[in-house]
Amino acid sequence: MEKFPFVWKKGARPEDPLLQKQREEKAEKQLSWRRNREISEWSHELPLTPERKEMIEAAALVFEKQFEVLGIPWKAEFSLRLFHFFDREGFDTQFPESVGNDGFHGKYDITAVVEEKEKGKTLLTLFHEMAHVASAQKYMLTEEEEKLLLYRVGYAGVDVNSQNGGVDEKKTHFDAFNEGVVEMSALRMMIRYKETLAKQLDIDEDLEELANKGHAYKNCVALVGIVIEKLAKLEGCEELKVWKRIEKGQYTGEMMWMRDIDTLFGRGSLRVLDAFVADPGKDAEVLARNVKIFRYFQTDDLAEREQLQTEIH
Ligand SMILES: [Zn+2]
Repeated sequence: MEKFPFVWKKGARPEDPLLQKQREEKAEKQLSWRRNREISEWSHELPLTPERKEMIEAAALVFEKQFEVLGIPWKAEFSLRLFHFFDREGFDTQFPESVGNDGFHGKYDITAVVEEKEKGKTLLTLFHEMAHVASAQKYMLTEEEEKLLLYRVGYAGVDVNSQNGGVDEKKTHFDAFNEGVVEMSALRMMIRYKETLAKQLDIDEDLEELANKGHAYKNCVALVGIVIEKLAKLEGCEELKVWKRIEKGQYTGEMMWMRDIDTLFGRGSLRVLDAFVADPGKDAEVLARNVKIFRYFQTDDLAEREQLQTEIH
C-alpha cells in the first residue's frame, strides 16, 4: 500500500503571517501571471461602493471576534484591496476557468466573490473565502518554502509537483474535508452573529434560515459533521469541543488531532478521508465512492469498514 504523506508535518508553518508588503509583492506576481496570459484585469468587477465596503468590514469584525472566542492571538488581514465583487455574468466572463463557482480565494491576495440578489448569500460566500484567506495567510510561504513538495492552506495539503488536470491545478489532499470545515465555519459564524450582521448591513432576511436553506459544499459539510459526531462518541466528549479544535486548527496549524482519525477509525482512515471528492459533478464512479466514504465514517461495524476500505482504494 502506498505510504500516505503526513502532510501536516511538511511545510506547515504556524508562525507569524508575512508582512503586508510581502503580500502585496506576491499579489503583484499573481496579477502579472494573469496579464501575461492576456486575462484582462478585473474589467468586470463591480465598484467598491460604501455598501460593499461595509460588508467586508462587518465580516472582518466577526472574524476578529471569532478568533478571540477560539483563543487565536493573531488577526487575519482583511484589507479592502483584497476582495473583489462580481455579478454572475461578470465573474463567469472574467474567470472562464471558474465558471459557475461562487467565488475563489487567491493564494496570496486576490479574492473574488459573486454577488447574489440576497445579501445574506453574498455574505456567506464572503465568509467562506475569508476563512480560506485567513488560513492561507497563516501558511504564507517564503520563496525557499515554495520549493517544498507539500504545503498547506487550512486542512488542504497542496502537492506542488502534481498536475491534476487544468492549468496550475495541483493535487490537493483533504480538499473536501477542508471545504467542509471552511463552509461550516462560515455558516456557524453567520448564525452566531446573525443579529449584529443583519442590523449592521440592513438585511431583512433571517440569516440562520438562509444558512440552513442552502449553502455550498453540502456533502463536505455533512462529511465533517459525521466525523465530528463519531470522534466525540469515540473520545467521549462534547461535539462542540471536537468542532472547536477542528475550527481552530485550520487557522493555527494545530492539526495533530487528525491522527486520531487513524487511531479511532482504524489504519488507513485518513486515506479514506482524503479520497472524498469535494465536487464530484456527475461522475458516477466518483459519486459512488463518495457514498462509500460517507458510509465508512458512519458505520460502527469494524468489519464493514475494513471491507469498504478495500473497495474505496
Ligand atoms: Zn472554498
